[in-house]
Amino acid sequence: MSDRTLLLAGNWKMNHDHLEAISSVQKLAWALEDAKLDETKCDVVVIPPFTDIRSVQTLIQGDKLWLTYGAQDVSQHEPGAHTGEIAASFLARLGCTYVVVGHSERRANNHETNDIVAAKVKAALAQEITPILCIGESLEQRQEKTHVDFTLTQLEESLADLDSASLEGLVIAYEPVWAIGTGETATAEDAAEMAAAIRARLAERYSDSLAASTRILYGGSVKTDNVAQVLASDDVDGALVGGASLNGPDFAALCKAAV
Ligand code: PEP
Repeated sequence: MSDRTLLLAGNWKMNHDHLEAISSVQKLAWALEDAKLDETKCDVVVIPPFTDIRSVQTLIQGDKLWLTYGAQDVSQHEPGAHTGEIAASFLARLGCTYVVVGHSERRANNHETNDIVAAKVKAALAQEITPILCIGESLEQRQEKTHVDFTLTQLEESLADLDSASLEGLVIAYEPVWAIGTGETATAEDAAEMAAAIRARLAERYSDSLAASTRILYGGSVKTDNVAQVLASDDVDGALVGGASLNGPDFAALCKAAV
């Protein structure tokens, strides 16, 4: 059993407007309380759309809930002439603890390269926001058995020019693209294999202590009935959950099943 705290992060994607967000977070908080989830055993994070963050902040900080929250993306740029972008400093000001960087939907739909992802990781770290760096292979790469090499290259290129000290606290989410939103889940062995490979590469490239402290999540169709199995390996420290995090009580049940 590792001493890393379990992390369960709910990525709402483009779901829930700010009113629905308030209701969902309130129900999540009540359900977590009812489930008597031990807050020392796991961190629960909600990751709503940008337009919900202020509402979620008011609710969570106002009610002193132990949940934390984050954003789904961040600009690599400083504030300025970048229409439609959101700066890391704005997210920090809103109390975001985490930001998802390099989600496969953004890599595919918004042409985010590893270079851009690396710049986003740096922008987040500069504002002391923890990046949840997403990496993972396509179905084709898995079938060709190039998935480990591909994912580790994505890891290295997405962290280019960063040193061990600046990466302290980083979270990595291994999310095979073929498992996201498809109902297909990697087996516990698949998740364990990749998490171990990522940890070994962090040790090789940076340091043993960074490898030991970095939380590695699995993401891809995680649900209440498969979360325990997915988290079976000591190397897997939590889950990035999409669809199954949208309903507060259901996400609380998933968190309970994970602990
Ligand atoms: C995700 O959005 O990162 C994700 C893993 O989605 P889902 O759980 O719906 O597959």
